[in-house]
Amino acid sequence: MNKFITPQLPYAYDALEPYLDKETVVLHHDKHHETYTQKLNMAIEKHPGLFETPVEKLLSDLDAIPEDIRLAVRNAGGGHYNHNLYWMALGPKAGGEPTGELLAAIMRDFGSFEKLKELMSEAALNLFGSGWAWLSLNGQKLVVEKTVNQDSPLSIGHTPVLGLDVWEHAYYLKYRNVRADYIKAFWQAVNWVAVEASYMATK
Ligand code: MN
Repeated sequence: MNKFITPQLPYAYDALEPYLDKETVVLHHDKHHETYTQKLNMAIEKHPGLFETPVEKLLSDLDAIPEDIRLAVRNAGGGHYNHNLYWMALGPKAGGEPTGELLAAIMRDFGSFEKLKELMSEAALNLFGSGWAWLSLNGQKLVVEKTVNQDSPLSIGHTPVLGLDVWEHAYYLKYRNVRADYIKAFWQAVNWVAVEASYMATK
């Protein structure tokens, strides 16, 4: 039986400074993300056979999850998986623009990288309450979308490529109520090499 674990950050806690400050990253990863992972494990303990199922698969077919843990898997499993993706897509000395096949797909589906940034920033800024803005694949087409709480695009049959967490825990310590400044900073921390690798893997 393999319990779910919170992946270690592929960089130091302060590596995303000045865009994401160390204190926020420590709390966000070691407390918030870890709590989702633990709550997912607590839920799955009730049906331990499901420890064999990858979280992507659990979230892709919530109807198949036993009813007594379905909401917990949706919330905690979504939180676990969404944050795995979030940290993987960030990095030090990042920002800039995507390249290669990912850039080609962005040009095809949005016209330009600037347009994608604008649409995703808008989605993140206008999301009411807690949730995520996403660049996802719907079939072979890239789309910008948002989800509330810890819902994952996987649960509507899409594959997330890049997630922008707009829960206040992602930015409040440094950016206070100014979500727009956090969103601008987020783009400076996106590691497009990693995002393109995950795009190529899921495409
Ligand atoms: Mn978060």
